[in-house]
Amino acid sequence: MSEGAAKKEEKTRRFQAIKGTRDLLPPETALWNRVEQTAREVFTTFGYGEVRLPIFEPTDLFARSIGLDTDVVSKEMYTFEDRDETSVSLRPEVTASTCRAYIEHNMQQLPQPVKLYCIRPMFRRERPQKGRYRQFYQINAEILGGTDAPAIDAEVIEMVMTFFERLELQGVQLDINSIGCKNCRPQYVKLLKAALEKVKEKLGADSQRRIEANPLRVLDSKLEHEQPIIEKLPRIADHLCEDCKSHYAAVKKELELRGVEYHENWRLVRGLDYYMRTTFEITAKGLGSQNAVCGGGRYDGLVELLGGPPTKGIGFAIGEDRLILSLQESGREQTQPGRSVYIVCIGEGSRSAALSTASNLRSEGFRVELPAVEQKVGKALGQADKLGIQFAVILGETEVSTGQYTVKTLSTGTQEKVEKSKLVDYLNQQYV
Ligand code: AMP
Repeated sequence: MSEGAAKKEEKTRRFQAIKGTRDLLPPETALWNRVEQTAREVFTTFGYGEVRLPIFEPTDLFARSIGLDTDVVSKEMYTFEDRDETSVSLRPEVTASTCRAYIEHNMQQLPQPVKLYCIRPMFRRERPQKGRYRQFYQINAEILGGTDAPAIDAEVIEMVMTFFERLELQGVQLDINSIGCKNCRPQYVKLLKAALEKVKEKLGADSQRRIEANPLRVLDSKLEHEQPIIEKLPRIADHLCEDCKSHYAAVKKELELRGVEYHENWRLVRGLDYYMRTTFEITAKGLGSQNAVCGGGRYDGLVELLGGPPTKGIGFAIGEDRLILSLQESGREQTQPGRSVYIVCIGEGSRSAALSTASNLRSEGFRVELPAVEQKVGKALGQADKLGIQFAVILGETEVSTGQYTVKTLSTGTQEKVEKSKLVDYLNQQYV
């Protein structure tokens, strides 16, 4: 290839977003903002404050907390060697980072519990499909420190259900379970493993592999032919220790007191190692097989495992991409259209009045479009219509000299003269 051709090729190379990542664009981003704004409002009423944490952390932080045998750590993390040869990973979730920050900033010295939330992207190298991406967004909340009183578990769940209700998310179902603690779960896992060994030949390859690595995950299987086998396996509810049993019963009672409807699901286990006792998952409509919009649970030992003091912890992660998809599928994606004005400026002499009108309206919160180059009136009105703008303010020589501006309502085509000083009031009245 000649040098010239090589240069030309270099110049014309087109790039695409990497598989599993995507651009979020207007107008859809208005819905993302509404969702995030609602989360902030609801979480603030429950006393939560926002944390913004690094996107990458030492690989070990995730390996230790999430667990080496989990899918996330064993095959989905974006891990790379930094220039100083340390291994770092893009975060696949944010609970471990939140605990790291809690310890690093001595948050145990603050009034307990500490309630934190985080709305940020996560990264997992999964097979992309509807509702599953390699860069996806989560809305997380965590309560660290204080007690493990069942009211805490119930309040966390009440908060996320309140948030979904506020968004009018459709077809919401809350599944709960208790997966025991370090005293009772190992015995149950042993029992489960033994039962699975007996039916190993009838299971698919994935489940066979999990018998050794992570037997609880077999309960998660969606394979049709495994369902009758799984139904006959021992259930953790029958093997909880007395403390876990009474904790779980009290969580259910607390949920009932709050009017939160739940569905007990003995097969609900979480994919990450640090969970214990209360676990929950929330599904919603319109998502096909990837219908979990929120997963959460208790993780009392995690801060300690990461070198901090013994600390109670519970939290959840909402999959924001799926939440948005579900809202869109059920027609709940509407965002309030803002107040908007298109200024049609006719003649150089009106330019100064047009600029100050634009500035005034913007300071009152209106969206204002003032074209950079003068347009014919018909073309300007057509453009305003295409942009979905509701009002045009027409400023020609007469308007400027009389101070009576022409305001056109684009949806009806009606036109009125409005005194310059009353323009903001007039426009505001149209929106009430
Ligand atoms: P997890 O941390 O695996 O419990 O996930 C919590 C929530 O995040 C899930 O219920 C999903 O809504 C969402 N989620 C997890 N992985 C992905 C992904 N690859 N793409 C989109 N959302 C995801």
